[in-house]
Amino acid sequence: MRKFVAIHNLGCKVNAYETEGMAEKLIKAGFSVVSFEEKADYYVVNTCSVTNIADRKSRQMLHRAKKLNPDAVIIAVGCYVDTHGRDEVCLDGVDIALPNKEKENIAEVIKAWDESHREEAGGLRDSAAYGEVIRNSGNQHHISGEGIYTRKFLKVQDGCNMFCSYCIIPYARGRIRSKRIADILSEISSLSEKGYSEFVITGIHLSSFGIERPEDDEDLLKLIKEADRLPGVKRLRLGSLEPRIITTEFVEGLRGTESLCPHFHLSLQSGSDTVLKRMNRHYTAKEYLQSVEILRSYFDDPALTTDVITGFPGETEEEFEETYRFLKNIGFYETHIFPYSRRKGTAADRMEGQLANSVKHERLTVLQTLDSENRRKYEERHFGKQAEVLFEDGNEGYTREYIRVSCPEGRIKSGEIHTGTITGRDVAGTLMFTLSS
Ligand code: SF4
Repeated sequence: MRKFVAIHNLGCKVNAYETEGMAEKLIKAGFSVVSFEEKADYYVVNTCSVTNIADRKSRQMLHRAKKLNPDAVIIAVGCYVDTHGRDEVCLDGVDIALPNKEKENIAEVIKAWDESHREEAGGLRDSAAYGEVIRNSGNQHHISGEGIYTRKFLKVQDGCNMFCSYCIIPYARGRIRSKRIADILSEISSLSEKGYSEFVITGIHLSSFGIERPEDDEDLLKLIKEADRLPGVKRLRLGSLEPRIITTEFVEGLRGTESLCPHFHLSLQSGSDTVLKRMNRHYTAKEYLQSVEILRSYFDDPALTTDVITGFPGETEEEFEETYRFLKNIGFYETHIFPYSRRKGTAADRMEGQLANSVKHERLTVLQTLDSENRRKYEERHFGKQAEVLFEDGNEGYTREYIRVSCPEGRIKSGEIHTGTITGRDVAGTLMFTLSS
């Protein structure tokens, strides 16, 4: 029986969580999960389709898998399949294509493939065995700790109802569905019993956690507070948040949640109100700034990170300048900058004033320079300060603010937490950390 499976993850933290879930299911089903560079019998690419570049990367990884072993079964899963359709994806040398809602069946699908029609043109997607697997679906990914990563991402919510004008995700992932808090807590408990201490709570639109079931009275704040109380949880980190969730009431509610890391990703996209309006984002730059000020008044110099799109349709020089000034004024720790990418089927794709790629990339370069400067300043503000680091491999780890540091002393095991001081930067630019005696 062929049994080596290689999995590659692309895209967001939700995908990372689901990749981990697939790895675990495959291991439980008797497969060996190997690195993507090794020769495997099956290559699974957990795709992303958030931009044209993400589409291209998804296709490249699928082609790469085929090159690594021309006899392997190539499996595309996730958003690229949702946005392009199974048939189109399978035209491109892919044997099996699974949309997001069918990822959880990965082990059964592979087994069904092996037992049935590997040589048949068109692949498993048309076979009776495949139909059987899909009819039997319904369970959700649930990570219990035998996956392939050290930090644990927990997907607590899927789908989005926001319909930002540039985004294909609500079409690819559907409407909001949230897990129940009791189920999430039991998942965290079983993971912390296995020794994991940091949990990253993620979702496609995390701020909407629980809103589709108001009768249950479950929201993100309640989830954070209850997870914080669990024994063994040393660190909680939040995935991307919509700025409007950060109110005084919300942050007051976080008081006493010792495990919550002072690291917040507030999605911005543009610092210009007119662009935000065209993007169908539901806040102004001023409201965003208020959220930042609230966080800074409750946490000591928290790490604030964000996303920005350059060259949105109709973005004028003045609008871009507004964004530049806004980013400079806030001084984020890290800004993820993306050139606007047209997605068929979205409102922004139909807008007039589409800009040339050269303009999008020029603006991206300007913001990248600003980002490097902001990042350097933030890191340097922590030089000489006490920090607590959760170590991963090779004596490297992350502070609670998610500053990556390296410790030259001794041999530190993955998963250990130590306090010490960030002493500075070495010649290669690595931030150095000394343990407290
Ligand atoms: S909030 Fe907007 S950008 Fe984020 S997934 Fe929903 S529609 Fe897309």
